[in-house]
Amino acid sequence: MSLVARLVNKLKQKYYLSRADSYFVKKIKKKKGIVFLMYHSTPFVTNEYGYITPKDQFEKQAYFISKYCKVISIDDAYSFLFGNDEVYSDKPVVVITFDDGYRDNFEVAYPILKRHGMPFTIFLTTDFISKENRTFMSWDEVVELSTESLATLGAHSKTHSSLKALAEGDKIDEIVESKEIIEEKLNKKVKYFAYPGGGFDKTCLDTVEKNYVLGFKDRINGDDDTDKRKVARLSIDSRHNEFKKFLIEIADGKYLRGKNG
Ligand SMILES: [Zn+2]
Repeated sequence: MSLVARLVNKLKQKYYLSRADSYFVKKIKKKKGIVFLMYHSTPFVTNEYGYITPKDQFEKQAYFISKYCKVISIDDAYSFLFGNDEVYSDKPVVVITFDDGYRDNFEVAYPILKRHGMPFTIFLTTDFISKENRTFMSWDEVVELSTESLATLGAHSKTHSSLKALAEGDKIDEIVESKEIIEEKLNKKVKYFAYPGGGFDKTCLDTVEKNYVLGFKDRINGDDDTDKRKVARLSIDSRHNEFKKFLIEIADGKYLRGKNG
């Protein structure tokens, strides 16, 4: 980014932060299309930075989404984007996803989403799921979630390795075996995959195409975004723990896509 562009961005951010929340609500109300949100950990409290949205912020964001957006399941999003189904909405359409399988998604985010009746998807890193590692959910918790009609479980590899760096056979194993493990535990088809760390190459894309309905990456990066194997998501994390920054990001709308977008 050039110096001028950086300066313009800085001024824009300053201007936006000075505006009232209602300014962004008005902007968001006019938006059309679908946005995939990518969350990670949702702890009760935190003072850490990174891929973290603590409970108080998650609660605020979920309330806002329930009021001003239409939340649909990942299955409905697929029909909307790639099938013939029309999802009528005069509000922006949101799909809520979580990566890795954090236990706090089960303990903190799930009850909030249930209260609002909002569907969501969790992409599991299967090696992380165990009784011993309490940062992540146990299989009992995953099984309990899978009986919830609002929840969809997807795969996010076995070990969360950077897939691009692995040997060809290992890339394929990470993508295929994580699906098989979840399907066996839940006795349900797994249709969606999220690339760990967002990275992939041609082998990964081909393997996802053969085994899944949709693949998800973590950001728009100039690639063709109509590709079913690498749908871009907007990361909501500690950068948005000031509520206005969440509003600015949603109002910006650059991740909105779809037929009515
Ligand atoms: Zn991840």
